[in-house]
Amino acid sequence: MEKRFFNDKVILHCDVNNFYASVECASRPELKGKPVAVSGNPKTRTGIILAKNDVAKSQGVKTGESIYEAKLKCPSLICLPPHFKLYEKISNKIISIYYNYTDTVESFGIDECWLDVTGSVNLFGSGKKIADSIRKEVLEKVGVTISVGVSFSKLFAKLGSDLKKPFATTVISRENFKEIVYPLPVNAVIGIGNRTLKKLEKMNVLTLGDYVQIPDLILKKKFNIVALQLKQKLLGEFEEQVVDNSLRPEVKSVGNGTTTITDITKREDVFSLVQFLSEKISKRLSDKNLVGTSVHVSLKTSNFERFGKSQTFLFDLSRAEDIANCALEIIDCFWNYTTPIRSIRISVRNLKSKLRPKQASIFDEKLGKKESFSRTIKAIKERFGEGSIELASVLKSKFINKDGE
Ligand SMILES: [Mg+2]
Repeated sequence: MEKRFFNDKVILHCDVNNFYASVECASRPELKGKPVAVSGNPKTRTGIILAKNDVAKSQGVKTGESIYEAKLKCPSLICLPPHFKLYEKISNKIISIYYNYTDTVESFGIDECWLDVTGSVNLFGSGKKIADSIRKEVLEKVGVTISVGVSFSKLFAKLGSDLKKPFATTVISRENFKEIVYPLPVNAVIGIGNRTLKKLEKMNVLTLGDYVQIPDLILKKKFNIVALQLKQKLLGEFEEQVVDNSLRPEVKSVGNGTTTITDITKREDVFSLVQFLSEKISKRLSDKNLVGTSVHVSLKTSNFERFGKSQTFLFDLSRAEDIANCALEIIDCFWNYTTPIRSIRISVRNLKSKLRPKQASIFDEKLGKKESFSRTIKAIKERFGEGSIELASVLKSKFINKDGE
């Protein structure tokens, strides 16, 4: 069992091996043991390899090369088009397994997650034990393998999951981290770009062990504060929290814009356009289970001048009607309705997750009705398509160029 420092967290980084290709193979058993790749447009052979399974990898197939190149090396390669909806579904299924072991899961891309299991070790055993149980459960229930890194920091847990593949657990502890991490090349860490890499190379810094030798002052001067933080992380001195998905929207803003077919100058026409855009934003917010508290509007006039203004509101915004009203309020503040407008873009910012359904209040009957109205509209659109239902004012507007965005 790994030793724990008094305050150390137990963090896992779980990474699905060859995610796209693994999902394809799990859903089609006849592919077992065959070289399989997921690629753009297999029919024209001009597509690029997006992912491959281990059989294809062992025959030299690389991500990013063309199907043509790949088939020269591996003529029996089976190329499949991507099924992103399926990948998302499987991803969610895997994440729900992670939640059996902790309530703190932070997604990183579609196939990687950090789990803070500090509070679960008394229940399920050491970090390594938990990692092994999760690997087994994911394989049994989903049919794909994952690699897990176990450590006291997010960075080391992520490095750990990269070290042994497929279907492995790697523990990086206080005792062994220097031995395991320091011989790795500097680009083993994500976020070190090519430019930085070249600079480091010139300084003769090739491994992470070399990197921690760089004096703080040089890191700050030649690079930035992030570079200094990286050194602290590599020394095991910088604590980074795993932030649960529900508290961490992956998007900073949700926006929509459109260019009008004709220039508009009337307030009612502006309002129709604003409503149309707000509907779309509201749908995207509710798909992502987000609310925001600030609205930004930018306008382009017929002389191609641009204006923009943001305003923060005291309440959570997610309903189309509220977003539209806020946006119009902003427009009223800064536009004189004389210069013709060519395009409008609205975005909702300061996003956060809508944690639980709004507390119903007996004084809020109206609100309840509005909510169920937007839910009904959403359901109709989901079933019959985006254009199946529109607010009357939106339909009336002849200005909206629906192909705009
Ligand atoms: Mg992966």
